[in-house]
Amino acid sequence: MVDTFGIPRVVDARGTSFGRQQIQRTPQPFVKPLTCGGRTCSATAVAVVGHLRLQTWVNPMFRLGPGAEHSALCPFNVEARVDDLVKEHRAVVEPKDGQYRLLLQIAEATTPSAPGVRPNTEETRGAGLAPNAARHPTRTLPPVIKAAAAVVQLLQDLDDDPVAKARFVAVNHTPTGREVLTWDEFCWPSTNSRELAADIRTNPARPRAVWGRVAKAGPAKSGRTGFIQLDTPDGPPVRLRAKNEKYVVEKGLSEFVLGFSARWELFPPNSPRSAPQMWITESWMLATWNAFTQRPNTIQV
Ligand SMILES: [Zn+2]
Repeated sequence: MVDTFGIPRVVDARGTSFGRQQIQRTPQPFVKPLTCGGRTCSATAVAVVGHLRLQTWVNPMFRLGPGAEHSALCPFNVEARVDDLVKEHRAVVEPKDGQYRLLLQIAEATTPSAPGVRPNTEETRGAGLAPNAARHPTRTLPPVIKAAAAVVQLLQDLDDDPVAKARFVAVNHTPTGREVLTWDEFCWPSTNSRELAADIRTNPARPRAVWGRVAKAGPAKSGRTGFIQLDTPDGPPVRLRAKNEKYVVEKGLSEFVLGFSARWELFPPNSPRSAPQMWITESWMLATWNAFTQRPNTIQV
């Protein structure tokens, strides 16, 4: 197995930018020499076509040329960026066996998921939680959500690099022990809402992070609740519903949102068009960011 991080984008001799999906085209559309497409980086790069290696398909990738190194701040310097991410989030990310394990430390959520309860008070929060480390969810969970959002943004920058993604897993604590989830099992793009709905049915008790582009946000038609609806091309909508409208007002303005909950549900529950949804009972259950704030380069083609 080749486990080298690829470079998601290069610039060719004419200054045109290319992503890795262009590598398999014949003839290849770029003019050599190639340079790493990270802003400020001038490392030489080479295109490696997809090939079978020991009966395993190796995806096409750009990689550094012989002896080349990324500039210090190159956003495509994946090793450095992963190191930085792990350092910044070391309270909840544990390196182990070549992987980085996001420790979910899930609170035992006892707040009913139906509307009508009064979240957001110290009494509710203190009395409703299991007598374990989850007694203070505002201390244990926000770092997990921030770390999950950081991984999502890193993978966005890397054009969803499969090698980088395979380095991240999530560790869920269940009554029967630890459950290690692949990144795809834990963290869902809203664009996979059909698969997400099926997964919620199969694993109803599993915590998940779901992220996507904000399609709609605002107050719900009835009552004082609010909602954020994430972009889904053809599957059922994904909704982050808030018992308090202010969470949506505060958070709904950024382009991307990640919501984290131990209790994703389907609404209505027994319909082929059931929509995945979670309840935002505290503002820290959401992370938000804008595209291109971290993007390394403008695309020229
Ligand atoms: Zn570079």
